[in-house]
Order: sequence, then C-alpha cells, then structure tokens
Amino acid sequence: MPLLMLDLDNTLVDRDAAFRHAVTEFLAAHGLPEEDLAWLMSVDAGGYTPRQSVAEAMTERYDGTVPADAVRTLLDRGAADRVTLAEPTRDALTKAVAAGWTCVIVTNGRVAQQELKIRNTGLDALVHGWVISESAGHEKPAPEIFHAAAASVGASLHGAWMIGDSAQADIRGAAGVDAHSVWVSNGHRWTESTFRPTDMATDAASAVHHVIGRRRTAR
Ligand SMILES: [Mg+2]
Repeated sequence: MPLLMLDLDNTLVDRDAAFRHAVTEFLAAHGLPEEDLAWLMSVDAGGYTPRQSVAEAMTERYDGTVPADAVRTLLDRGAADRVTLAEPTRDALTKAVAAGWTCVIVTNGRVAQQELKIRNTGLDALVHGWVISESAGHEKPAPEIFHAAAASVGASLHGAWMIGDSAQADIRGAAGVDAHSVWVSNGHRWTESTFRPTDMATDAASAVHHVIGRRRTAR
C-alpha cells in the first residue's frame, strides 16, 4: 500500500487560527490590550518557538498581572482545544484512504498537545497512525522520523509522498528520504533555492487530491 505522510500544524489543521482565537480570549479574560495579539503571534512564530521561551517572554511582560498557570494553560491547550478539521480536508483524506493510501501524520511537537489535536478533530479515526517528534526522539527534517512513520504502519518510503507547509521540516525532510512531496503554500511564495517540492498546492485538500491523481495517471 502506498504511503502518504502528512504534517499536522498549518497543513491538516489551521493551528495558527486556533492559537489566535485562544490568545484573543486570553487577552480579554485578563484585561490585556488587544494589540498584544500581534506581539504574541510573533513571539509564538507558528508554534516553532519553544514553549518555555514563549512562557518566559509572557511572564516577563505580564509579571504580576496574569497567573503563571493561565499562561501554561494557554500554551498547553490553547490551540489544541480550538483546532478544527476543515470539511474539504476531511473529504480528501477519506478519499485517499478509500483509494488505498496508508495515511500517517508526521508532526514535530509534544505528544500530549498533538494527540489532543488529532483526537479533538477526529483525525484519529481517519488516518492509519501518527508519529510525534517528542516520542520518536527526532524532529523533521531528520530522516529518522520519516523512517519511523513508515515502520509504524509497515509501509515503505519507496514511492511515498509527504504533504506539509514547512519548506525545511516537510519538504527538505521528504527529499532527505527520497520521498515525493507537495508543499502547502497557504498563499505564500516558495523562497528556497537549493531544493524544491515535487509539486505545490494552496491547501491540504488540493494537495491530497493532487497526490491521488498523480498516482492514478502514473499507472
Ligand atoms: Mg506545519
């Protein structure tokens, strides 16, 4: 069975929208200025800044005005509690599975948080499995995490595809294990000159349809 690996944050789910929603509620709940939304989104950097560093920046800025456990709750559960799976993405994944693809989520992050997102959105019932960097002991783009994803479902990386929004983590990672890839642009432009994805798509649903279609025409 062909293997389709998928990134989670800002690929299958709009993690930044969920976090923005959580931050907006957090600022209102603690009587903080709405302008801090832009500051916090920039500190968070799409979830790529280590949680500890975001917590420290927030503690410094809100010293004495916000309880430390409120900051922890926002950072631990904020995005995970609010994340949703868009219907077109759900449909596309369902079609991929029906077409015989083995679908595995490959995500960098912490197990508690990423599994909460996977279960809250119902992705756990759609895909065949998931590999999270915290438990794998390796982060994308390291080849080890892609090998772990293939091994977790008894699939081969030969002819496998990877779909993701991060040029470095997802697309460079896929190239490192000779997998095909579709970069999900989310409206951005490709800026890397030393490597490229096999294909590009504007969102995850189109990317999945593209992979299914490519294989059909290749046979
Ligand atoms: Mg991502």
